[in-house]
Amino acid sequence: MSTKYIFVTGGVMSGVGKGVATASIGRILKNYGFNVTAVKIDPYVNVDAGTMNPIEHGEVFVTDDGMECDQDVGNYERFLDTNISRDNYMTTGSVYLTVIQKERNLEYEGKCVEVVPHIPEEVIRRIERVARKTKADFVLIEIGGTVGEYQNMLFLEAGRMMKLAKPDGVIFVLVSYLPIPRMVGEMKTKPTQYAVRTLNSAGIQPDIILARASQPLDEPRKKKISMFCNILPESVISAPDVKSIYQIPINFEKDGMSRIILKKFGMRPRHKNGMKWNKAFTNTDFEKEVKIGIVGKYFSTGAFTLSDSYISVIEAIKHAAYSLGHRPIIDWINSEKFEKGSVKENSELKNYDGIIVPGGFGTRGVEGKIKVIEYARKNKIPFLGLCYGMQMAAIEFVRNVCGKRDAHTTEINQNTKNPVIHILPEQLENMEKKNYGGSMRLGAYNCELKRGTKAYAAYKQPLISERHRHRYEFNNDYKEMMEKKGMIFSGINPEKNLVEILELKSHPFFMATQFHPEFKSKPLNPHPLFLEFIKSAIKK
Ligand code: GLN
Repeated sequence: MSTKYIFVTGGVMSGVGKGVATASIGRILKNYGFNVTAVKIDPYVNVDAGTMNPIEHGEVFVTDDGMECDQDVGNYERFLDTNISRDNYMTTGSVYLTVIQKERNLEYEGKCVEVVPHIPEEVIRRIERVARKTKADFVLIEIGGTVGEYQNMLFLEAGRMMKLAKPDGVIFVLVSYLPIPRMVGEMKTKPTQYAVRTLNSAGIQPDIILARASQPLDEPRKKKISMFCNILPESVISAPDVKSIYQIPINFEKDGMSRIILKKFGMRPRHKNGMKWNKAFTNTDFEKEVKIGIVGKYFSTGAFTLSDSYISVIEAIKHAAYSLGHRPIIDWINSEKFEKGSVKENSELKNYDGIIVPGGFGTRGVEGKIKVIEYARKNKIPFLGLCYGMQMAAIEFVRNVCGKRDAHTTEINQNTKNPVIHILPEQLENMEKKNYGGSMRLGAYNCELKRGTKAYAAYKQPLISERHRHRYEFNNDYKEMMEKKGMIFSGINPEKNLVEILELKSHPFFMATQFHPEFKSKPLNPHPLFLEFIKSAIKK
């Protein structure tokens, strides 16, 4: 069978869950026995997501092969239960970079190289390369942003050109939004109609409209959308808010998503709907709760608090908690408020069953994180440190247990006498050359686990592989000093002898990793470290 392509575009506004919708469509097709993959197109000029501020753009997700990409790629991996490669992510910047490089190499053989058709052609080349390499039955292509934006026009053009070349092999899904203004008290379809007109003016007619709204779509509105957007009523799918994103595939199916898609392509399901997913996520409304505090700094923009910067951490917590029959309550704790003075014994932190200090960069909020870690260590609150969180845990220990008060990371204090965290020589070179983009220690590296440790007990195997994104490392000169005081270095990268995991014996759960375990947690397969962390949080 030749690969089928499903383009997913957004209308009306961003942030209505286009990534999760794309991932959910993929999940449904996978449930029926198809090989599915997904591509994310980001309209930014940034060559990858590594240089984007997480408050503005959300989490930077990292693939096994070290691509720094949009958080939606994380959704694809979680929903499709698969590893996505760097080929599946592109930005405007990366596409232009390739075309310009090819032009410099005379690969256009003296032709005038033009925005149209050469940019969309490069986009198509990349999408078809994904199909070839993965041998996918379906490639979903999510175009970032909303229709009508100047920035994603060339990607819509690529979709239009693909449809022309493969009329039976390409469909378009529009994820729209239907507001219910409070003053009006009625769900409005007009913005969706405008979005479809805009899509039409790009030469594209949607095959399916996903009607995102706070409520299910009713019949009159379904008919209206059908009539004015020139689409069969059965192809308008209701996508109301749900309690858990993992229920979305189940919801889409209720409205016949797979039937409509397969009909459009003249196909039949390979087998019955895989029940595993539905069984696990029909109900996530557990009575028992586990309360987790995430201590970070990428939360607020103006008057709003966003949690997107740590989306994989949140999902990993959910996977573990759900599998243990608990509903996670996740709170954002701004580390800056602990900067001054010590965390008091009656601190709000006492209310948490577990505390996570996730990844981060730079000075802001660091002293607060160190104080929170000290509090968790002394008060035996289950603690999980991720990347920067591990570096801070090492600093806290050297400062407060080994008595080296000025211990620090050279990321913040280059002149500290006790550089517990320091930069690798090759990274120093990158920094000196201002070679910042895509140059961190990125992607999957091996880690050997020490027998008899909590890490080993969690993974139940001696060799693991986890994903990284950092420039600084634990300084092995401090190993012996810390070991004497009870720190256990339970995971080491064998190739470079780098510390990857540290843990404390005399604590119910105190573990920190240089890598990001959250990137590999899957809803049907929670990450072992998150599982142990949540187990011990539940116990507390
Ligand atoms: N800032 C730290 C480093 O670069 C940690 C990075 C992170 O938490 N992802 O090493």
